Amino acid sequence: MTDDSHLTDADATDTPTATAGDADGTDPATDGGTTVGAADGVDDGVANDPVVGGTDGVDADEAVGEPVLELSDVIKRFGSETAVSGMDLTVREGELVTLLGPSGCGKTTTLRMIAGLEAPTEGTIAVAGDVVAGEGSVTPPEERDVGLVFQEFALFPHLTVAENIAFGLDDPDSAAAERRVADLLELVGLADYGDRSPADLSGGQRQRVALARSLAPEPDVLLLDEPFSNLDVSLRVRMREEVKRILDEAGVTAVSVTHDQEEALSISDRVAVVNEGKVEQMGDPGEVFEHPTSRFVASFLGQASFLPARVGEDGIETAVGSYDRELLKGLGDGYVGSHVDVLVRPDDLRATPVGDGDADGEVIRRQYTGPSFVYHVKLHDGTVLRCLHNHTEEFEVGESVAVTLVADHALAWYPAQ
Ligand code: ATP
Repeated sequence: MTDDSHLTDADATDTPTATAGDADGTDPATDGGTTVGAADGVDDGVANDPVVGGTDGVDADEAVGEPVLELSDVIKRFGSETAVSGMDLTVREGELVTLLGPSGCGKTTTLRMIAGLEAPTEGTIAVAGDVVAGEGSVTPPEERDVGLVFQEFALFPHLTVAENIAFGLDDPDSAAAERRVADLLELVGLADYGDRSPADLSGGQRQRVALARSLAPEPDVLLLDEPFSNLDVSLRVRMREEVKRILDEAGVTAVSVTHDQEEALSISDRVAVVNEGKVEQMGDPGEVFEHPTSRFVASFLGQASFLPARVGEDGIETAVGSYDRELLKGLGDGYVGSHVDVLVRPDDLRATPVGDGDADGEVIRRQYTGPSFVYHVKLHDGTVLRCLHNHTEEFEVGESVAVTLVADHALAWYPAQ
């Protein structure tokens, strides 16, 4: 998780109005986790065999549930800057879709337009079948059934946990509200914490209160903006599993934003990889990770390298040996004689120390991660590959190695550039 989001990192016990951040509005009701009421055309060397890579069309057709949120060709300009450049996105009932992409690609702006905190320059946004932006009108945030959970949680410090959760309800003092708050406290595992002050809670507990507060008015869509980035690493991993459980149990439709691909891949029903303001690929996490339809998506997910290969009659030839053509997913006969770049990740490759004469290249860097080493190997032709090894297999920088492709699954590939 990178920490360069433009949203502020203020402590959860600050006043919500103070923590709302630069452009997140100043109304506490819109800022601290309360209710405020497949793209084609990539041109960077997408493998053109239809079998290669996932397609969002397939996934969307298979998805169950009615569309709850629909963005159609949404564009957002700030002066001469185009933050969102034709966003199409459909989120179905009960699913968690995560927008994943590099800093500045337009994720937060998209979320803010869904919430009503920004108006699209062009395009339409519909929530539960109602157009809330576009066609000449914009529904204000408080009239949309959209909940928000920002990274700073922003609970009201002068209210108890139960009062924080009840805050967004129409009649917070009613018996129905009391029952709803009790149910939500139970759902988020804080049944005995209703009378506490937010200041007396841990970071993970505060986050669960913020989530409960957002869920209280039963929003059609819940938006989560980097919800785990203020938590330490081990808590973050536990909380994301917990939040996913809560969202599933609540049956809520949710859109999350993150830079953290592991988080996105582990908790999302579908992932939308965003590049320069539009969705470049959308699908279930496994499909997007295994079969990225563009080099951008491939490069963004995992430590991708591209291994040049020549397709022969009988196999493929690479700088690290010849392999069966079956290794390349969906490679048709038409590619014989062509040059392609094969997507390889560290777990697809192994290095073996050898004498100079047999070497494919040399180790130029080693990354120690605890359980494993990732060795960066520079081949004679300059290609750099990364090889994943157990922490007990120690090679030195400068060591000559042979590299072997050990992938036991078909690999994605792209026509050579
Ligand atoms: P990060 O992951 O770093 O939060 P992001 O993908 O969420 O990035 P956005 O915050 O949506 O990206 O920003 C997209 C682009 O729009 C950036 O170039 C940003 O500088 C620009 N931008 C966002 N908000 C404004 C604004 N209010 N005025 C001008 N430019 C803006």
